[in-house]
This record gives sequence, C-alpha cells and structure tokens, in this order.
Amino acid sequence: MTRVSFEFFPPKSDAMEETLWATITKLEPLNPDFVSVTYGAGGSTRERTHRTVKRIVDETNLRAAAHLTCVAASRDEVNAVIKDYWDAGVRHIVALRGDMPEGPGTPYAPHADGYQNGADLTAGIKAIDPFEVSVTAYPEKHPDSPDWDTDLDQLARKVDAGADRAITQFFFDNDLYEAYLERVAKRGIKVNIVPGIMAIHSMKQVKRFAGMCGASVPDSLASRFEGLDDDAEQRLLVSAAVAAEQVLDLQSRGVDTFHFYTMNRAELVYALCRLIGIHPATEPAAAA
Ligand code: FAD
Repeated sequence: MTRVSFEFFPPKSDAMEETLWATITKLEPLNPDFVSVTYGAGGSTRERTHRTVKRIVDETNLRAAAHLTCVAASRDEVNAVIKDYWDAGVRHIVALRGDMPEGPGTPYAPHADGYQNGADLTAGIKAIDPFEVSVTAYPEKHPDSPDWDTDLDQLARKVDAGADRAITQFFFDNDLYEAYLERVAKRGIKVNIVPGIMAIHSMKQVKRFAGMCGASVPDSLASRFEGLDDDAEQRLLVSAAVAAEQVLDLQSRGVDTFHFYTMNRAELVYALCRLIGIHPATEPAAAA
C-alpha cells in the first residue's frame, strides 16, 4: 500500500497561518503517516515550530513530527526541547545537523557544548525518550561531502544511532535516486529511504533552493517553466504534470512511500496523492 507524509514550514504571519491551517484541513483526510514541521536557525522561528507542532497535536488526529537541528544550542538546551516535545505528546523528531545561521555554504561549526551532527542528535534523542527519528539522505551528495564515502559514512552513522527512516533532499531526476539507493545498498546500509518530492510552485524559488543545497535542476525541466513567471495558472498546470510524471515513474520503479514538501499549499499535493492511489478517508486519521 502506498504511504505518504507531508512537510510544512511554520507560518510567519496570521495570513500565512490561515493558509497553513486550510492546507492541513484539506490534507488531513488523506491519512498521512505523519506531517512534519521544519525548524529554522533563529529563535523566533523555533518558537513558531513548537507552536505549530503543538497545535497539530492538540487540534488534529495527525501524527506530528518536529524537525530539530543542532545549530547554535547546547546539548542541555536541545535536550529540554526534546523533553518538552515528549511531554506535549509528540512522538517523532526529524533530527538534523542544520546549517549556520548565515545559511548553507558557510562552513559548519558545531556549538562548543552542542550535538555535532544528525547522527549525534539521533543518538541523543533516542537516549532521552523512545521517539521515532527520521534523518536526511542526499541522492546528489550533501554539499559538505567531498566524496560519496564521506556522505554514506554519515548516513551509516545516523542509521547506527537508531534512525528509523531517511528522507531525501528533493531531486528531479529519478535515475539519481535509483543510483543512490544502489550506493546505499552496496555500502550495506539498511534503512527505508523515502523520496522527498517538491511540487514546483515557482521555478525561480526552486532554482534558488537547489543552488543552496546542492540539488540539480535539469535544463529540460527548467525550460518547461520558461516564460511562465507571471502566469500562475499555467505554472500550476505544468507543475502538476511534471510532478505527476515524477511520482508515477517512481511508483513504477517500486517506490511505495513518498514525502511531500508541500510549501504549505494543498492543491498540487492533494492531486498527486490521488494519482498514486491515496484517497480521502471518510473519517480523519485515527490518533496514534
Ligand atoms: P548530517 O547528515 O549530520 O551531515 C551533513 C554532512 O556533513 C555529511 O553528509 C557530511 O558531509 C558532513 N558531516 C557531518 N558530520 C560529519 C562527520 N562526523 N565526519 C565527516 N563529515 C561529516 N534545515 C533546517 O535548518 N531546518 C529544517 O527543518 C530542515 N529540514 C530538512 C529536512 C530534510 C528532509 C532535508 C533533506 C534537509 C532539511 N534541512 C533542514 C536542511 C539540513 O539542515 C541541511 O542540509 C544541513 O546542511 C545538513 O543537515 P543534516 O542533518 O543532513 O546533516
């Protein structure tokens, strides 16, 4: 059976909060495995993540996962956040190293008393409470990895620390994902690697994200969006067609679990879910 999960970011304004909640309400009947909320480097972003996750736990039947990074915080500070989530009923954390507050590309320096990376954080979380922990995977290598061995070693450390699944950075070429699965298998790493699917709302924005995180955007894909910057309606149709091609192709290759980067919008993701056989339940998802 095909399974899905959805990723949101914490809203920055009342209007964005309304959009997010309309999205959550629309997507909830699709009964995702979990929904996750990203975590930023700044203090106020952190507060918004906590608030959003807690509201999902309190007001929906969805299983909420909180993203958490090691950035600019001591172990004690991060441990307090972890305990707070457990007490609030959260049972799943997406454990991340994160990037320096200046953004990706700035060499990473761990906090002197902090968790060092995603593997160290995963072990820390598991030692505190029996959370489900998801970690990251990079079909095109993490930009900090000079070679594949370094990259796969880090994935192996995260799995050895107890990670329950890995979610990939977005990618647009399914061959890259398949080649990555082969590398992981060859390295003897046993973990479910869930493809992270980005439905393209704006090619400009996707190219900017891709540049920062080391993902590639094929020219053939970019050209499909050429001239559509000011035509939201056409862009949405092309985006739906492009993402449909990608998820249906992955399904034909045997993929049965998908993580959607929703950008807090429901329409594309809802349509994609229908295409891969996920239909709304008559009742909302049962609480875990
Ligand atoms: P890790 O996997 O811990 O490490 C990344 C790389 O650093 C390794 O591949 C390796 O090259 C190097 N490295 C780390 N430790 C070692 C070591 N001991 N020895 C050698 N090399 C090492 N960012 C946010 O700020 N907030 C979010 O909510 C967020 N959510 C994300 C969700 C997903 C699914 C993905 C794919 C990324 C997300 N990110 C988020 C981005 C992420 O924080 C960055 O990609 C960051 O640069 C790396 O974090 P990580 O957990 O992947 O790092």
